[in-house]
Amino acid sequence: MHKLRTIIFYLTLACIAAANLSFTLAPSYTKPRNIIIMIGDGMGLAQISSAMAFYNGINAFERFNVIGLSKTSSADNYVTDSGAGATAISIGKKTYNNAIGVDKDSLPQTGLFELAKKRGLSTGVVVTSSILHATPASFYAHIKNRRWYEDIAASLLNKQCDIAIGGGYQFFSNRKDKRDITQELQQNGYEVIIDSSEFKPIIKPRFIYMAAADGMPKMQQGRGDFLQKASLCAIENLSKNKQGYIMMIEGSQIDWGGHEMNFDYMKAELIDFNSVINMVLNIATEDKNTLVIVTADHETGGLALTENDKQHKQFKPQYTYNEHTGIMVPVFAFGPGAEIFGGMYENTAIFDKINQLMMW
Ligand code: MG
Ligand code: ZN
Repeated sequence: MHKLRTIIFYLTLACIAAANLSFTLAPSYTKPRNIIIMIGDGMGLAQISSAMAFYNGINAFERFNVIGLSKTSSADNYVTDSGAGATAISIGKKTYNNAIGVDKDSLPQTGLFELAKKRGLSTGVVVTSSILHATPASFYAHIKNRRWYEDIAASLLNKQCDIAIGGGYQFFSNRKDKRDITQELQQNGYEVIIDSSEFKPIIKPRFIYMAAADGMPKMQQGRGDFLQKASLCAIENLSKNKQGYIMMIEGSQIDWGGHEMNFDYMKAELIDFNSVINMVLNIATEDKNTLVIVTADHETGGLALTENDKQHKQFKPQYTYNEHTGIMVPVFAFGPGAEIFGGMYENTAIFDKINQLMMW
């Protein structure tokens, strides 16, 4: 009798243990089909607060329920550059400033785009800089130095990026190595469009669309709704893949306004980015299958909102510095799996969290 009771006792313990185990193993979140990472280059909280204070439309940042904080330091500097910043998200490892998709020993590491491609998903980048600039390049290239633009252009031939829209056509022909990357891409199944007039949507599974020799014009120079139209075009093409897609949309010039310590430049770029976030959130709300992550690689300019002596209900935007700073940046998440992006973590954790969600 005593023995039987002991057996029942241990069986009960085993059952409780098994129940707990299955509870911890079963993910409580839903796996998204698509992931849209939106990077406001140089977009800290001061940039968001100040630009949105001057904007009367819908504040896209207020549409997120899950908000986290990302620590942006690189492997060799408390203050990161955009190469190390985007690479941390793309490969999940801290690296040195100026690195593109390589670790601190300059070794290429498997990034989110490659992981996605291996599982049959499509990939894309849409930016207002050159498509070869540090932020987008970190997602599809593995290059030791962010300034080796001709090498970055050639690495599009590794086919890790199905769609790229932005500037940068000067690095595809008239090169030091005499190669014609436009032609090589076409031989590899890419449509290559070089057209700096108004953006025209196309339907193609694989294309490179370049609308400027290097970076795109500023909003203040009449870029208009390029980023919105280009992002929509990329999403429409990528979503034809029923396996899903992962893409990166960048508000590249929020950073450039900071380097120029020019508040109006930054503000116009951020308001443009805000409208693209609103569009992406509308799409994600409708399809219920898309995780949207909005973050920054770092803050630029040490922007402060100081007291305005003349108009007490307004502030005076003041840049303290024309370079990047080391303050944490926000992470906004929406859609299936968004809940795991709350909290405070290193920028590399964004890679880890995406991997965890996608079970890659
Ligand atoms: Mg950038
Ligand atoms: Zn910068």
